[in-house]
Amino acid sequence: MSITNFHCTVCVPTFAKCFYIVHLNQAYTRDLKSMAAFEPAYIETHNRGLLKEKVAQSFEILKACTLCPRACGVDRLSGELGVCLTGEQAIVSSYSPHFGEENPLVGDHGSGTIFFTRCNLLCIFCQNFDISHKGEGVPVSSKELADAMLFLQGSGCHNINFVTPSHVVPQILSALEKAIELGLRVPLVYNTGGYDTPETLRLLEGVFDIYMPDLKFWDSRVAEELCDAPDYPEVIREALTEMHRQVGDLVVNKRGIAERGLLIRHLVLPEGLAGTRQAMRFLAKEISPNSYVNIMPQYRPCGRASEVQALRRSLTDEEFREAIQVAEEEGITRLDERRRAFVLRWK
Ligand code: SF4
Repeated sequence: MSITNFHCTVCVPTFAKCFYIVHLNQAYTRDLKSMAAFEPAYIETHNRGLLKEKVAQSFEILKACTLCPRACGVDRLSGELGVCLTGEQAIVSSYSPHFGEENPLVGDHGSGTIFFTRCNLLCIFCQNFDISHKGEGVPVSSKELADAMLFLQGSGCHNINFVTPSHVVPQILSALEKAIELGLRVPLVYNTGGYDTPETLRLLEGVFDIYMPDLKFWDSRVAEELCDAPDYPEVIREALTEMHRQVGDLVVNKRGIAERGLLIRHLVLPEGLAGTRQAMRFLAKEISPNSYVNIMPQYRPCGRASEVQALRRSLTDEEFREAIQVAEEEGITRLDERRRAFVLRWK
């Protein structure tokens, strides 16, 4: 992978003439002063020699992989493959500044997303089915992954946002070591489906400043039917607790840009399949009433969703409004503003 593989999500420019990139660079320069005050956690972890240890420990896990709760036990370093169908190298589908994420991540210059191919959860309704299930993407070395991070930082992105990272934690840590030496200084976002073990998350302590997990389902029968992971509700509850222990509630700087903390996503599913009320109650009571939550309305049938009767249609306006109301009733006070505006326009 190289920068020539980069596809701008705003248009398809010739880089030398791209007004968008010029604009980003100018705005980025204005931001340098405020950014200089912030130091991501991974810098100290690296300086203390702990990152190198984490890289070694995480690659050791791949020899009989228990990186995620699937616990396949395969030797990925010898080419064996488990549920995530990923061996020693990470596979990347795309990387680019992204403006469709939550406001505290996007700011003025975008969130620097790196989309990993394959997944350890494999929801049947996945909106990136070609990437997660079918495997569209290119294997990348640590150096190439580090170069992608630096390219995104150089484009002015406020963070590096690793999308679907759970099955490639060692590869990310290894690339991060190289990227730090080459000047990486923006915070990292762990953008996960939430099917992560506490052991793997503890390895990430002092590395990721921002955790952005999904809270997908509350009912284990739903989780079994939709992603063959009946333990998902239990796993995500433990994961959220560990993530919050490490980074706390979401903290933004004077410009509203996220620097550290937990941001939870909850995709509302038709017919109440996501268990919104119980999920919001857990967040407010067991994690924090200041939890920053993005209640997402964009469910539409994708992938193999038609196998489940309730998932054959998109979410209705009414179902989404109810989900917002339920979140507020259960004590959630920090809902993603974009979605709230969306609801207000609908009324
Ligand atoms: S990361 Fe992949 S191989 Fe390892 S336990 Fe999870 S699904 Fe299995």
